[in-house]
Order: sequence, then structure tokens, then C-alpha cells
Amino acid sequence: MSLPSQGRSKDDVFAALEAARAQDFPWRDGKLFALVFDGGRDVEEVGKKAFMAYLSENGLDPTAFPSLRQFENELVGIARKHLGGDERVVGNFTSGGTESIMLAVKTARDAFRAAHPEVDTPELIAPITAHAAFHKAAHYLGVKLVPSPVHPETFRADAAAMAALVNERTMMVVASAASYAHGVIDPVEEIAALAQARGLYCHVDGCMGGWVLPYFKRLGAPVPDFDFRVPGVTSMSMDFHKYALCPKGASVVLYRDEALRQHQLFACSEWTGYTMINNTIQSSKSGGPMAAAWAVLNYVGDEGYLAFAKELLGARDALVSGIEQIEGLRLMGRPEMSLLAFTSDEVDVFVLCDELKAQGWMVQPQLRFGPSQENIHLSINPSNTKWVGAFLSALAETVAKLRASGRGIERPIAAAEAIAAQVRSDTTGEGVRALVSALAGSDGGAPGEMAPINGLLNALPSDVQSRLLIAFVGAMFTPKADV
Ligand SMILES: *Cc1c(COP(=O)(O)O)cnc(C)c1O
Repeated sequence: MSLPSQGRSKDDVFAALEAARAQDFPWRDGKLFALVFDGGRDVEEVGKKAFMAYLSENGLDPTAFPSLRQFENELVGIARKHLGGDERVVGNFTSGGTESIMLAVKTARDAFRAAHPEVDTPELIAPITAHAAFHKAAHYLGVKLVPSPVHPETFRADAAAMAALVNERTMMVVASAASYAHGVIDPVEEIAALAQARGLYCHVDGCMGGWVLPYFKRLGAPVPDFDFRVPGVTSMSMDFHKYALCPKGASVVLYRDEALRQHQLFACSEWTGYTMINNTIQSSKSGGPMAAAWAVLNYVGDEGYLAFAKELLGARDALVSGIEQIEGLRLMGRPEMSLLAFTSDEVDVFVLCDELKAQGWMVQPQLRFGPSQENIHLSINPSNTKWVGAFLSALAETVAKLRASGRGIERPIAAAEAIAAQVRSDTTGEGVRALVSALAGSDGGAPGEMAPINGLLNALPSDVQSRLLIAFVGAMFTPKADV
């Protein structure tokens, strides 16, 4: 691809953008159980209009755009109240859960280093169910993530196991409310008490649950305290672009007080340009996501979110009981969120994903890890709720068909062993790249049938998985050669 020498017409440009969409999953139909948190056309319109209205304004300079500072402070004010924080709780608007988590880990690291300059590599104890963003933060920030086991049936963090991993290098413990994979809430009170007793920071990841769990609680669902009401919780993350149904690029990170948040902020006057003051990772920063989040929250309002939560809770309960009635399927843990995971000991869940996709349903495969065997994840969003019955029927029929076929579960152990040996002996990366292009097809795109690849990845040890996945990503993001 090269730049056209003459600019193309607007019509031509927009037609090309629309045509490209034909490759994408039609999320508005409501058959996608992940990735897009769709509150319907009306909420979408409000978010997009506000996004466009502030797209060009730049959060880099709050003295030029006090409007954005106002939106940010108001959003943080709403968030801290929602999460049981008092007036001392402060925070910032960020681009997503990953940025919120990255900042919380960086803040704890810098606060910990100030008190413990002798520790080279501070440690972060995270249950194996904590979001991959904590691994990414540790990887970027020179922190060591110490994984902690979870209960093999409830998939909740084990506070005693976390306590046993604390040492003089430990800076932070993590709890999820709720966890992504299984939608369960970790024992936040126990984990925060451990943090308090040992002088550690305690981050509660409420990216998924922070917004919706307080509504579930008001609707009578059993939701334990998981937020700033719990003594010892020092920071939290909560995504507006998930269950607050805002356009993407919208999350918040909160801290117990300003003394801790200070370690997040960055200012620089040691160069020849403008005095830079940055509250988050981005510097030039579109006002779009912030204005959109502000608009959607104010448009939907408390009663509106309560109504959405009621729909989600109803759909979650119907899916849970429906899945429990399908012979051959098994729910994993007791989902406390509108997120759930189920597995099977009879049919291949990766084949099941492909079969459902062929029928127009998109669900998320999750590879085995620790006590969590390979499974299928659903993040339920409002656009899914009308399809619960139809989805359960399709699921039941497909499972029955796969059971009747006697196809069973593919376990490519021998292939995985051969590949693991090949990958581990490849020092240059050439062999891994060749292997990946053979698996994925020459253009590096994701193939239609994913079951063979998921089955293979699932059978590989995690160091080999990572090397293959990184080669996959590299291949996917390599422009085609000009012809
Ligand atoms: C989505 C999610 C994240 C990461 O958020 P992004 O917005 O994708 O960066 C972190 N934690 C949990 C529990 C999540 O569900």
C-alpha cells in the first residue's frame, strides 16, 4: 500500500471504510459475547456525538482546555462515590484498564522505592486469575509478578497462600472484583487485611465489576464489600468502557489519598520546550473519550444503570441455569458477575467455539491454566440479553451434535512436544516465524477454523505459547509487500 498521489474523494474514502467493515463481526446484532459493551443505539449515539464534539480538544494542557479538567474531576468524583471512597480519594481518567493498572503498579513501585531504596526488584503478588495487564505492567516496569494459586473449584484467590508469598521485597497484593475469566470476586477483606498487617499496597481491580457490582448489590445479589469501604484497599481500577457502556478509551484509576497518587504524576521542565505536566501515560490526549464518558454517564443516570444491571443479572441467571441443564457442559465456579465460564469433559470446547461461530455466535475460548481447564467465556452485555434463549438452544443442539459425533476432545500432545522442542532450540527466531506462517497462512491473518490452533496452543507449555503468540502478532502486523 502506498499513499495516493492525489487525495481520494470523501465519498470514496468513506465507502472504503464501510466496505472494510464487511470483514468484521456484526456486533450490533447482539450475538457477540465479548469485546463490545453495547447499551443500544441510543446510548451509542450519545457517546459518539460527545466523542466527536471533543475529539480535537487536547488534554495535554488543562489551562487551555479547562472543560476537560472539569469532566475528569467530575468523573473521578462519581467513581469514588460509587466505590465507597471519601473526599480524600483522588484519581485520574485513563485510556483503559491496562493504563489504570499500569499506573497503579508504577505508583506503588515508586512509593515503595522511596521507602525501600535497597530493594532492586519490588514484587507484586497476584492471583493467577488476575488480569494479564498486571503481567504487562510488571514486564514494562521492572517489577516481579509473583503468581499465587486460587481455589481449584471457586477460582477465588487464596489469601493465606498470598500471605505465604510475602517477603521484604513485596510491595503490593492484588484482588479482582471480579475476575475476568470466571467472574468471581476475590476475598478482598482478607487480602486487604493482609496488606494492612504487612504494610503493603493493595490494588482492587474493578475494571469489570467496579461499575456494575454496586448495582447488582442494590438488586439483592450477594455482593461483599470490595472497594474503598474495605480498610487496607489503597488503589482501584474501574473501566467506564465496559459496564458503564461508554465508548472505548475510558477508565479510571483511584488512590486512597493524594500522598500515594503523587507517585503517579509526572512533570518535566528539563528540556527546551513547554513545561510538561502529565497526570497519566498519554501526553497529547484527545478529549473525545472523556467527554463521551461524561455524556453517557449523565445521559443514562443512576436509574438507567440500575435497569441495565437488572437485565444483565436476569440474563446471567438464565445462562447459568441453562448451561447447567445441558448434558456435557459444566459451569466453572459460581459467577458473581455478568461474566461466566463453562467447560466440558466430553466435547472439545475449541470445536464448539468454531461451530457456534459458523452459526453466527461469537464466544471466547480460554486456554487451560493452573486448575482452570480450557473453557468458553461469556461477557454478557445488554445487547445479548434478548438472545439468551436462542443462544442456549443453539448451544444445547451443538453440544448434542458433537457428543453424538463421538469426536471427543483433541489432545495434540505429540505435535505439541515436537513443536516445543523445535521452538526451544530455535535461537534466532527464524524457525518460530516459519512455523507460525505455516500455521496461520502466509498473510498472517487469523484462519477461519481456530480449533486446531487453540488445541495446539492449549497443549503447549506457557513459555512456548508466549514465543509462538509473539511471532503470531508480529506476522499479523506486518504490511503486505507491494506488488
Ligand atoms: C478488561 C479488563 C482489564 C484490562 O482493561 P483494558 O481496558 O482491556 O485495557 C483489566 N482487568 C479486568 C478484570 C478486565 O476485565
